Parts: sequence; C-alpha cells; structure tokens
Amino acid sequence: MRFDIITIFPDFFSGIFANGVLKRALANRLIRVNVHDLRNFTHDKHRTVDDRPFGGGEGMVLKPEPLVEAVESLGVAPGAERNTSCESVILLSAQGARFAQATARELSTLERVVLICGRYEGVDERVNELICDRELSIGDYVLSGGELGAAVIIDATMRLLPGVLGNEASSAFESFGHADEDYRNDIDGPPRSTHGSGGLLDYPHYTRPAEFRGLPVPEVLANGDHAAIRKWRRERALEKTLRNRPDLLENAELSREDRVFLDRLTRPKP
Ligand code: SAH
Repeated sequence: MRFDIITIFPDFFSGIFANGVLKRALANRLIRVNVHDLRNFTHDKHRTVDDRPFGGGEGMVLKPEPLVEAVESLGVAPGAERNTSCESVILLSAQGARFAQATARELSTLERVVLICGRYEGVDERVNELICDRELSIGDYVLSGGELGAAVIIDATMRLLPGVLGNEASSAFESFGHADEDYRNDIDGPPRSTHGSGGLLDYPHYTRPAEFRGLPVPEVLANGDHAAIRKWRRERALEKTLRNRPDLLENAELSREDRVFLDRLTRPKP
C-alpha cells in the first residue's frame, strides 16, 4: 500500500517513520510512504503557499494551485475518473468526518492514499471540491496542522495490513474490533492474547512480575482455567467500556450473560 503526504513541513515525519511497527513495515516493503514538500509546486521566488482570505478575517489560507499541482504530479486519476475502491485523496480537516477504526479498516483495502495536510486557517475549499474524495478529522479538537492527522491515519491503517503485525489476530481482537465470526467462534482452547472485541474496549493486560508494589496480578490469569480467564476478560472489558465509553455499548454485540453482568453493575445499590 502506498501513502503520499503533501505538507509544508516534510521534516515533521522523519521521527514518526523511524520507529517501531511503521519502520518495520517500511523496511519490509509492506507500505511505501512518500512525503512531498508543497513548496516544490510553487512557481514564484518566495515559494508562496498561502494567501489572505477572501471576505476578510483572521489568518492565512493555503492556496489551491500548489496543492492541486502536487496531487496531479502523483499520477492519481483526476477527481471524476478516480476509482475510489483503489485510491483515495483525503483532506485532513477539523470539519471532516470523524476518523475511526472502521475508517482505518476501509482505507486498508485501498492500494493508494494521498493525504493533504492543511495549515493556518485551512485550505482553499476548491481543493476539496476538485481533487479530494473525502475530508477526515481525527477528533473534535483543532490542531495547528494536518500532519499529526496524516500520521494517525497511516499508523492505524497500516497495522491492519496483512503481515505488518507479527500476530494477525492482534489487530482483530483489540479495542473497537469487529463483532465478527472469529470473535464468536473463539470459544475454546487458550484464550486469545487480546480479546476486547465485539465493539468493546480491550480488557486490562498484565505481565511479570506477578506482584508489583503490593499489587498482585489477578489470580484467575495465572491458574490456566481458560473458561474462567475468558469470562474474567469479558467482564473487565464490559466494566471498562461502561466506565470510559458507555456510548460504545449501544452498538456492541452483547450476549444475554453480558447484559445480566452490566445490569448488575448499573443497578442502584440498595
Ligand atoms: N479554521 C479551521 C482550523 C484550521 S487548523 C477550523 O476551524 O476548522 C489548520 C489545519 O490543521 C487544517 O487545515 C487541517 O488540515 C488540520 N487540522 C486541524 N484540526 C484537525 C483535526 N481535528 N483533524 C484533522 N486535521 C486537523
């Protein structure tokens, strides 16, 4: 899968791609990332990328010509002719649709994603109209630029690609995972290492030492009873989701047992 980033701060990404899973995915050629300096697509002496807003108001706006030229230079099909099931041109924007795990899953099926990073007050809207397939926001806050958003999208997407994580099951069985067949069929044998799936948050994880600063690892995890471990993990995932993200419970796939457990947690104490 190939990612292209268009930015006025290409150096921003040097550390991000030099570590961990991203570094390995690049080294193993599972992904390609090309960072393009927007200023290379200007034609004036000052390499101007921004200008004052029409209609007045604060700040500066990224000009349309360099951005459109930059995307055109990448060889992606022009707007109307683009096959969006293979390639997508995305504008990072606080006004975008909210990026989520489901979006990452969708993007991970594409061959090519172009990410346009805004700065200042944003990007001339005609860029959006002429060359972008969608606007994405990484959350309900305003950042100073799209670069962090581009990094978030690339990270969350590439770790879903086959071969990127050592253990294929890792990405299917974690927070925001599918309520999928694998999850429903995972009923015997040693419990998966991560099992917070079915639309719930992940359950808590522990490693050695067995006791740390007076806190022991929950006993159930050490006794090898797979069914008990499974039940414990499910209940902790339910508890954590109820506490931190009750909104997720609405769409989570809950069994009758799950509901009984949640009822018990939410019932007012007598
Ligand atoms: N005036 C804009 C904010 C501009 S911030 C507004 O009020 O909506 C400058 C750039 O940062 C944006 O063009 C966008 O590319 C990026 N950005 C800011 N917040 C973002 C977010 N939540 N998600 C993704 N990109 C964001």
